[in-house]
Amino acid sequence: YPHSDLLKSLPKQFFASLVSKVGKQLEQGHDVINLGQGNPDQPTPVHIVKKLQSAAEKPVNHRYSPFQGFPYLKKAAADFYKREYDVDVDPETEVAILFGGKAGLVEIPQCLLNPGDTVLVPDPGYPDYWSGVALAKAEMATMPLKEENGFLPLYSQLTDEQLNAAKLMFLNYPNNPTGAVASEKFFQETVELGKKHGICIIHDFAYGGIGFDGKKPVSFLQAKGAKEAGIEIYTLSKTYNMAGWRIGFAVGNASVISALNLLQDHLYVSLFGAVQEAAAAALTESQECVKELNALYESRRNAFISGLQEIGWDVKAPEGSFFAWLKVPEGCSSEEFADHLLEKAHIAVAPGIGFGKYGEGYVRVGLLTSEERLKEAVERIRKLNLF
Ligand code: PLP
Repeated sequence: YPHSDLLKSLPKQFFASLVSKVGKQLEQGHDVINLGQGNPDQPTPVHIVKKLQSAAEKPVNHRYSPFQGFPYLKKAAADFYKREYDVDVDPETEVAILFGGKAGLVEIPQCLLNPGDTVLVPDPGYPDYWSGVALAKAEMATMPLKEENGFLPLYSQLTDEQLNAAKLMFLNYPNNPTGAVASEKFFQETVELGKKHGICIIHDFAYGGIGFDGKKPVSFLQAKGAKEAGIEIYTLSKTYNMAGWRIGFAVGNASVISALNLLQDHLYVSLFGAVQEAAAAALTESQECVKELNALYESRRNAFISGLQEIGWDVKAPEGSFFAWLKVPEGCSSEEFADHLLEKAHIAVAPGIGFGKYGEGYVRVGLLTSEERLKEAVERIRKLNLF
């Protein structure tokens, strides 16, 4: 059957080609160190898995759960925001349960935009923002994230015309792919800008649980008036190693939350009740697992970055997320460099161009394997004599 024009308009999945290149190397029997994808390698903490097991036995969880999720989970999300960020959230009107952060991010443009409306997206940025924009038949305007500005957009470089045309803006800190973090001051500026120009701010806080050097990542909702200016999307995928469970939530502006709930009523019934119980346990019970995870990623980051610096690669350490964003040597594109690493050292990394035009000149490395394997990757790179 012919596919719809809408389906054909969706951006090409850039990482499909990386997966197939890695597959070929594995078929040839190479020992590939795969740092290309963003799939957490650690298991979900045991107390959360146990909660799922006991909750799965309850008949109440075998039936359809309420549209828009169980109230106890919305309360757990609100309590989590109070405890972690000292932000007051009304669980009834300011929280929407999501099938993972990605679903919410892709749904938002369909909730708020008409065809032809403009969305400001960061470049480089998480490619799923583009999918949501395409599904809503909206247009993208990019905000370059440059190293000299700490990978934050420079609002002063956006024209009044661009700002007045934009209906929505996506932001994401700690940032995928650059590993940059944002300050409360930056979010405060963002709130003022959004309110002044009528732009709804969507802050993707997927890596909110992962910050280094004792610095806890700041929530967008900590900025004054943030709930009047937009929402934040939180996911349990990274903070609690629950990427396979598909659960997250949106918090903030009540009008946006009600739009999300309405669209989701048409798309799904709701999530498996046992997953909701386990998610509530993750958010409200001991947070020791989050501390341990931060320590693990920080120690991997330190080993990998210092190893690269020792062999002469001029790289900076990420401040949050589990990605390192590395400048490629002069004279080759990010894709050529990634291919070279894969073919000559059997190390897979994601070429920066996959995250947008301004991602060119960098590759993204996921710190999602053991410290020992990361050191092995450094050793293989050293042998290439690139620096
Ligand atoms: N946002 C960013 C920046 C991500 O990197 C990811 C996952 O890789 C997500 C959102 C979505 O996560 P999930 O759909 O698992 O909640």
